Amino acid sequence: MKQRKIAPSTHLIHHAYEPPAGFKSVVPGIHKASTVIFDNTVALRARQWKDKTGYTYGLHGTPSTFTLEERLATLEGGLQTLLAPSGLAALAMVDMALLHAGDEVLIPDNAYGPNKDLARGELAHWGITHQFYDPLRADELASRITPRTKLIWLEAAGSVTLEFPDLIGLLRVARQHPQVIVALDNTWGAGLAFDAFAFDEFGGQSQGVDISVHALTKYPSGGADVLMGSITTRDEALHIKLKMTHMRMGLGVGGNDVEAVLRGLPTLPLRYAAHDAATRQIAQWWQTRPEVSQVLHPALPESPGHAHWAQTCSAAGGLVSVVFDERYSPAQVDAFIDALDLFKIGYSWGGPVSLAVPYHLPSMRTVGDVPQGTLVRLAIGLEDPQDLIDDLAQALTVLAAGA
Ligand SMILES: *Cc1c(COP(=O)(O)O)cnc(C)c1O
Repeated sequence: MKQRKIAPSTHLIHHAYEPPAGFKSVVPGIHKASTVIFDNTVALRARQWKDKTGYTYGLHGTPSTFTLEERLATLEGGLQTLLAPSGLAALAMVDMALLHAGDEVLIPDNAYGPNKDLARGELAHWGITHQFYDPLRADELASRITPRTKLIWLEAAGSVTLEFPDLIGLLRVARQHPQVIVALDNTWGAGLAFDAFAFDEFGGQSQGVDISVHALTKYPSGGADVLMGSITTRDEALHIKLKMTHMRMGLGVGGNDVEAVLRGLPTLPLRYAAHDAATRQIAQWWQTRPEVSQVLHPALPESPGHAHWAQTCSAAGGLVSVVFDERYSPAQVDAFIDALDLFKIGYSWGGPVSLAVPYHLPSMRTVGDVPQGTLVRLAIGLEDPQDLIDDLAQALTVLAAGA
């Protein structure tokens, strides 16, 4: 071949310089790739994408996604983890991988709202039915299981109302039906509040759920700036089943986002403990306030499912909900929220900033009793708890003024 001068554009890509190997630092290097380069065609043909022995394609993983997956599997007490572009995408992927037309999925009535919407929307369109069950009553779940039941979701604590489910009772009911896979939305517990794969002792063996899904968007990221989800398992065949759907759906995550979550993980236990301690202090303060009829927080003995919480957990996360006395109208509660200064109005918790959102429960629940009166869910951030209490107290004067 005739020697030809390489054009600058090619030189920019195929530059000969390589940095020396052996660089070491505290953080793992971040790798980003849409494509993976093979050494030769033999290596290309021998590619193996189902495990972590090699790299084959951007969507199938990089050193960075493998590192994050392994750390999350360890955190959750699992053996395999898949990453998805959001917590909701991870929930949806489990449904898609495991449910076929004619199957039924059982979802707690207090589940993360979009998980229920998915059942009412896409799953229904695909001929997959659902029932919402009362997570405080294992007998009620038992009465809903049929041979068509293939997947049971658990969520602890429940979204917004924070009832803590009878995890052990629900699991034991599900385990009487070998065709049923049990999946947990473990976002609130973050892999720290309880052990998703071993919260029950039965017949001398510890047992737990089959699948733990985690919105990394919340506590693992901790920055309120990333969307990501994970799906962790302990069974290789189940993992591969999920991974096939993951591959066919093309659910990739970006290297920059992986970097952000990897950066958040080392401080996760410290942040979780800080959210937890501040939230308990604020929950106790609310108990002294005459404006609210109920304080919902799993560590409070009055809170629904407290005994179940005490059975499996010692930590309690960063969420507390309060139900305002019925004498206050929804508009007055809105005025209270609008008067908050440090608390911002927003949904996606787990970051440094405290958040408040009002909810109208009767339109959200179909099973059991719901508290009357307007509910406000507070996500406690990392501010000084006394400053947050002062903020709540000053906003309550606005509520009282409107009464
Ligand atoms: C936020 C959340 C999700 C969804 O996470 P996204 O990354 O925002 O899609 C799922 N489950 C629970 C319990 C959540 O709080």
